[in-house]
Formats: sequence, C-alpha cells, structure tokens
Amino acid sequence: MSAAEYEVVYLGTRPCAEGVASFRFSRPEGYSFTPGQFFALTLVTNDGAESKFFSHADAPADAAIELTTRLSDSLFKRALVELQPGATVTVSGPKGRLGVPEGADSVGFLTGGVGITPAHSIIRDAMQRSTGLDIVLIYGNRDEQCIPYGDEFRSYAEAGALLYVETLDHPEAGWRGESGFITADLVRRHVAQPENRHWIVAGPPPMVDAMKRVVADLGLPSESVFYELFAGYGPNG
Ligand SMILES: Cc1cc2nc3c(=O)[nH]c(=O)nc-3n(C[C@H](O)[C@H](O)[C@H](O)COP(=O)(O)OP(=O)(O)OC[C@H]3O[C@@H](n4cnc5c(N)ncnc54)[C@H](O)[C@@H]3O)c2cc1C
Repeated sequence: MSAAEYEVVYLGTRPCAEGVASFRFSRPEGYSFTPGQFFALTLVTNDGAESKFFSHADAPADAAIELTTRLSDSLFKRALVELQPGATVTVSGPKGRLGVPEGADSVGFLTGGVGITPAHSIIRDAMQRSTGLDIVLIYGNRDEQCIPYGDEFRSYAEAGALLYVETLDHPEAGWRGESGFITADLVRRHVAQPENRHWIVAGPPPMVDAMKRVVADLGLPSESVFYELFAGYGPNG
C-alpha cells in the first residue's frame, strides 16, 4: 500500500522516565498498517515544517497511533513536547516492510530502549488477535527507571504467551532479571535453537551494530534476520 497523508489530532503523552515518552495521535479514517511498519510525522518547528520517521508502537486494533521516542534538544522534539492536546499535525504512511514473515510461526526480537517500538506493535497485535505466534523478546535497557512497555510484556510473560528476557546495564539491588548487554551467551541461555526462528532487530545505530555482532556470534543465517535501522539517531545513539 502506498503512503498517504493524513491530518491527525494530538491526544496526549505518557512519560516513561526523564528523556523518553510516548505520544498518541488520533487514528485517521481509512488508515491501516501492518505491525512493524512506520510513518512520517510532520511538525511545524521554529525553523519551519520538518518530518521524522517513527515506527508504529501501536497495534492495528488500537484506537490511536502511538510513537515512543527519546526526547532531545532538536527543534523537532521541542515542537513535539510543546504540542497541546487538540493540535492538528500531519502523518504520512504506512511505510516499510518490517514484520513477521509470511507463514512464520516463531519470531525473536533483539532490541532495547526506544528500539522496542516495532516489537511492541507486533507483539501487542499477536496478543490481541491470539495468533499463537511463538515469541521471544530479548530486551535491554539502561536501568529500571524506564523500560518502555515493560509492565505489559511482563503480563504477557506471566500468562505464558511470551518468553521475555529483560537485561539492564545498571541494575539496582534486588533486580531479578539479567544484567549487562545482550550477548550471544545470554540468548543461548534462554532460547533453545535460536537458529530455528526468524529474528527482528530494531533501534538506533549503536543498538543495531551491537545486535549484528550478537547475530554473527550466534551464527544465525542472514536470511532469517530482519533489521530496522532508526537512521536519524547518530552513531552514538
Ligand atoms: C524506519 C525508522 C523508524 C524509526 N522509528 C523511531 C522510533 O520508533 N522512535 C524513535 O525515537 N526514533 C525513531 N526513528 C528515528 C527518528 O526518525 C529520529 O531520527 C530520532 O528520533 C532522532 O530525532 P531527534 O530530533 O532527537 O534527532 P537530533 O537531536 O537531531 O539528533 C540525531 C542524532 O544525531 C546526533 N547529533 C546531533 N547533533 C550532532 C552533531 N552536531 N554531531 C554529531 N552528532 C550529532 C545526536 O546524538 C542524535 O543521536 C526512526 C527512524 C527510521 C528511519
């Protein structure tokens, strides 16, 4: 489906922790997308109109479009945080081909931080529609202050619908998940035969680069790994 432009209404925001937040927009009539796809959001900044890409964090059956992002000092992000509920902005989409491959019955995600957005859309959709997709989510974050959608993933895992592995770079005392970066060893400790599933890697360049090394260490066949690079974040993420 080719991308079309829509006027949407800003509905509100939900902070995750300082520096990361989710933003919701009305879902335009006739807009449909596949989980894993992204859209362009156009805002009027102090320097004129500017567009940036965001993966859908929402699932197709949700009432609103949602993005989750790291807040920076850019003119675009300043315009985003200054939006008032009821303001009209432009969304163009859907775009991209990322998603669960046709016919696949198992998928794994290697991601962290705001790179979680396409995984959240795909997993939420699978839960809403009870597709029975066999899902592994390996999810790295800095600390416990902000694990975007962590509570939701934990509830799916508790219901037995998801194999969920959380790891933190800076865990506090009492943290019961994994510690440190995602490594091939960590994946092997949790996932039997990782080469037997499709894998999706998404996020800013440093995350994608690190996961490419994990994929190589695991010896995963390149045709079974799909990447979404959040270009626009710099080499330091
Ligand atoms: C397919 C796709 C999906 C995406 N999905 C998401 C998503 O779900 N969530 C999300 O947050 N983003 C996503 N992005 C990225 C998004 O479009 C933005 O590029 C990103 O959020 C950064 O925006 P910003 O305004 O904060 O960037 P800026 O503040 O303009 O900075 C971008 C990067 O450049 C670096 N930088 C800035 N100035 C300099 C300088 N002078 N020298 C060196 N480096 C510098 C910064 O460290 C920063 O990492 C996606 C991108 C693509 C292509």
